[in-house]
Amino acid sequence: MASEPVSDIKQDAVSQMEKDILRVLRRRIGKDQRAAKQHDWYASSILTLRDHIIDAWIESTQRTYEAGGKRVYYLSMEFLIGRLLRDALSNLGVTRDMEKALASFGLDLAELEELEPDAALGNGGLGRLAACFMESLATLDIPAYGYGIRYVNGMFRQRIDDGWQVELPETWLAHGNPWEFERLESTYRIGFGGEVIAKGDGVMWNAAEEVDATAVDTPVVGWRGKRVNTLRLWTANPIDPLKLDAFNAGDHFGALAEKVRAEALVRVLYPADSSPAGQELRLRQEYFFTAASIQDIVRRHVQYEGDIRTLPDKAAIQLNDTHPSVAVAELMRVLVDLEGLEFNEAWEVTKKTISYTNHTLLPEALETWPLPLFERLLPRHMQIIYAINSRVLREARKAGLTDAQIAAISLIDESGERRVRMANLAFVGAHSINGVAALHTDLMKETVFADLHALYPSRINNKTNGVTPRRWLQQCNPGLTKVIRDAIGPEFLDDAAKLSDLNALADDAALGERIAEVKRSNKVALADYIKRTMGIRLDPDAMFDVQIKRIHEYKRQLLNLIETVALYDQIRSHPERDWVPRVKIFGGKAASSYHNAKLIIKLANDIARRVNSDPSVGGLLKVVYVPNYNVSLAERIIPAADLSEQISTAGMEASGTGNMKFALNGALTIGTLDGANVEIKEHVGDENIVIFGLTAEEVAAKRAEGYNPRAIIEESRELGQALSAIASGVFSHDDPHRYEGLVNGIYEHDWFMCAADFDSYTAAQREVDARWENKAGWRASAIRNIANVGWFSSDRTISEYAKDIWKVL
Ligand SMILES: *Cc1c(COP(=O)(O)O)cnc(C)c1O
Repeated sequence: MASEPVSDIKQDAVSQMEKDILRVLRRRIGKDQRAAKQHDWYASSILTLRDHIIDAWIESTQRTYEAGGKRVYYLSMEFLIGRLLRDALSNLGVTRDMEKALASFGLDLAELEELEPDAALGNGGLGRLAACFMESLATLDIPAYGYGIRYVNGMFRQRIDDGWQVELPETWLAHGNPWEFERLESTYRIGFGGEVIAKGDGVMWNAAEEVDATAVDTPVVGWRGKRVNTLRLWTANPIDPLKLDAFNAGDHFGALAEKVRAEALVRVLYPADSSPAGQELRLRQEYFFTAASIQDIVRRHVQYEGDIRTLPDKAAIQLNDTHPSVAVAELMRVLVDLEGLEFNEAWEVTKKTISYTNHTLLPEALETWPLPLFERLLPRHMQIIYAINSRVLREARKAGLTDAQIAAISLIDESGERRVRMANLAFVGAHSINGVAALHTDLMKETVFADLHALYPSRINNKTNGVTPRRWLQQCNPGLTKVIRDAIGPEFLDDAAKLSDLNALADDAALGERIAEVKRSNKVALADYIKRTMGIRLDPDAMFDVQIKRIHEYKRQLLNLIETVALYDQIRSHPERDWVPRVKIFGGKAASSYHNAKLIIKLANDIARRVNSDPSVGGLLKVVYVPNYNVSLAERIIPAADLSEQISTAGMEASGTGNMKFALNGALTIGTLDGANVEIKEHVGDENIVIFGLTAEEVAAKRAEGYNPRAIIEESRELGQALSAIASGVFSHDDPHRYEGLVNGIYEHDWFMCAADFDSYTAAQREVDARWENKAGWRASAIRNIANVGWFSSDRTISEYAKDIWKVL
């Protein structure tokens, strides 16, 4: 566990920790040592640690005020932070002290850690990125606030029932949350609906409904505890929690209606990733947290600086995707209607303050709202958007853009039912628009934002994503961390780029052996977990081949499953061949309304049941679907992976960050030239990654020329056989037609080009087998992966944002 470089344990610190824990147990939990249950000890440990953090937190805040520097505000609908105990212990360098202190009471830190619920306030990569960024901001000593929503239930918990996904509410707050502090003094009134009325020589929004947003703060500890920043999540409270006259008149439900309506705002996170959540409540959530954050930022600025015109010198607001992009209109409203700035001046302040990160090119995932809904909910913002739009379109006309270009740039989509385009709003209201991997940024310029890019050619820039090496190496893989440290010294703990010192040792057999031992023990631990929770026995010497991520057709879990069926068939037909034993591990959640994604989960489970119980495969192939993929599960699975599946249709995955975590933990990647895979390949070298499939350019060309999947399937016997096995019910005797529709989709349109890439994918898999057979070669490749992905640290990403976009470094 203990991975921080604290070698000599100071006995004083340990006995102080013991005393602190006992005092907290008594004074804050109200128990003594004999009466305390596991959960009481867990809560006492966190509260004790929190006391350590608070001093650093207050000191950091004080330092920021005194320095009067610029602050970064990261607005995100999602923060997928996971558990915090191990993270805070490790970053403060007190893991061993805590371990020892707890041991003196006969307790095991690792067991207590398991009691912490995962803060599942995100869907997937976008939310996890926000969490990694918060940690890196604190690590780089940049004053920053994360702003989001304190969802009471967050992302749903997934259960697999008879192979089907079942969604249950995540009750992560059931036992309270010892990390958070409610800040009643930071409460803001948020309006919806109503009308715009004249006031003096301007206008004023007279909202029909109002709700209070109250801040709930969680400290974010940077590496070595240098700085503690704040994650500020908003909760919703009714202004009038109980209508007493209604209650007394016997209307007990009506009396509480306002409370129920307010609480609905922060109840759940819409489980959509790469597809929009179109409901009105979602737009209300977006405005609710964005407006509260803007008010908080403006209040802080005016309080300390006096003049709102200097906002861009003191505040950088980063929009994580379009979900908070109403910030552009809200900041304009505050500046013009409340602070009295002229429209032009307000527009300059807004653009200089705001920047926007795009996360998707999928046209169906670009957020738009029906204009009548937007206008009903936010009438003043609609006016402001029209005013911005006429300005932008005039500029476009002046710049000589065509009518088609102007229609594409417009903030209003006029092509059918009129809709507000949130990505265009974010683009025009920001001075920087960044993509999240080099390929993605290039494609942004060529596709979704081609016309806006023509008008504002200097705005688009690239910031390739990263992951924090604290959570994704040091904490989740202490064994590997120790081996690396023994090999190259501790510098990489403070600068992930230093991992490159391992390159010189890539062919060192002793190092290869030690890393292989760590990998094996991580695989044994994962196998134990899977045995315990699912009853499936795995061979830790088999190759652990892993695809864990949101379930989406573009990510092509289906391609992996078809290949699994083909491999199963091959093993049964040629049992005499030297098959490499494999365990195919899948995990991920599907959006509840996404029919095909849910069917893919069922297919994985149907294949697993059949393959795992077939004695003729002789244990050479196992398939596992691990339920409820989340951050804690990722921390368990990734250190145990040999092979990382990153097989999206080229041009569809903006970046991926799972790919980075696997490589950092010594897995080899099988992947397409998509998202950050392209850059991972450049860093680790062509010989240490297995690339297959069409390029983004080839995918686009194939689509343009008219792609015919049926012809490809007829050419490939293996693919045809696998598809007909699936379609004819080989894996679904109970409902032989279950997968007909799914397979027909591949024959008829195959939007994500599984057929086109199938042969190339199977060939790549056999190449993976060949490399696995060469043990020394595989180990050297694993080391070269670890050595060369330090660049994908979110510290590097954040320092680029800080220099190029926020101007704070
Ligand atoms: C890293 C991570 C993701 C993102 O994975 P991709 O493979 O990049 O889609 C999603 N969910 C969790 C829990 C993660 O830790």
